[in-house]
Amino acid sequence: MFPSANDRSIPVLPPAVEPEWDTVDRELGQAFQENQTLREQILQHAQLMQLLTHQLATPLTALNGAVHLLGEPSLAIDQRQEFLEVIQQKICSLTTLLRDLMALRNLETGKIATQPMSFCFETLVKEVIAGFSPYSVRYQLGAELPQVWGDRWQVSQVLVNFLSNAIKYSPNGEAIEVNAAVKQSGWVEIGVQDYGLGVPEADQPHLFNRFYRVKHGDRQNIEGTGLGLSLCKLLVENQGGQIGFESVHGAGSRFYFTLPTAPVST
Ligand code: ADP
Repeated sequence: MFPSANDRSIPVLPPAVEPEWDTVDRELGQAFQENQTLREQILQHAQLMQLLTHQLATPLTALNGAVHLLGEPSLAIDQRQEFLEVIQQKICSLTTLLRDLMALRNLETGKIATQPMSFCFETLVKEVIAGFSPYSVRYQLGAELPQVWGDRWQVSQVLVNFLSNAIKYSPNGEAIEVNAAVKQSGWVEIGVQDYGLGVPEADQPHLFNRFYRVKHGDRQNIEGTGLGLSLCKLLVENQGGQIGFESVHGAGSRFYFTLPTAPVST
């Protein structure tokens, strides 16, 4: 019933329900954190898209130019051949970019299952090195290297990447060596040593970032996607290992990673 106009009594209000401030605080904090994480992910995504756009634009511009020039009726045969080679090379760059991007995506989304097993590292090194023939790569493995534990195919991909880089960034064909030894109990360290271009100090902190390429005059004609090392990092971390490198610009580099030794069967 509504109070009448001359009813001066103070209405009795229902008791106020006090919010649980602790819960509200916690939920607000959580929402803020989630929002922050999402913003960072969106920013990272936008940066990656920008880098990818650049990686796609460069070969496409060259392709466009070469195809356009090929249409010139007055072109000599050797010039025609030159432009065809540019086209082949750029198609190859785009194919490599696509392959690396797909490998990254498959690893990140767990599409490539990791199947760890015990295996002999020396046998794997010999197989991988044979794949680089006729390039001769030496290897030096510690005496009585124990069996290692990891996904054999994924480990081979890291080695292939390190060796391809060592060869690619040693333009005068300097020697390359694979070495492996037990570094601390339960871990084997595997390294690829080269005496090529090395990495300028200012670039070293960024080397494992996606699409990062060193922009120095000594390698301006060497093609790449800037994805190889970030792929290697994911692959090594999938095995529980660590990746790193030491490098002196102009003198060479040693890229390495660690792998757990296989449990000893009793
Ligand atoms: P890409 O070789 O396709 O550019 P990577 O991710 O494999 O991409 O390497 C990133 C950068 O690190 C390269 O652009 C190169 O300048 C530098 N780098 C990698 N390996 C070596 C090496 N063995 N010697 C000198 N520089 C290297």
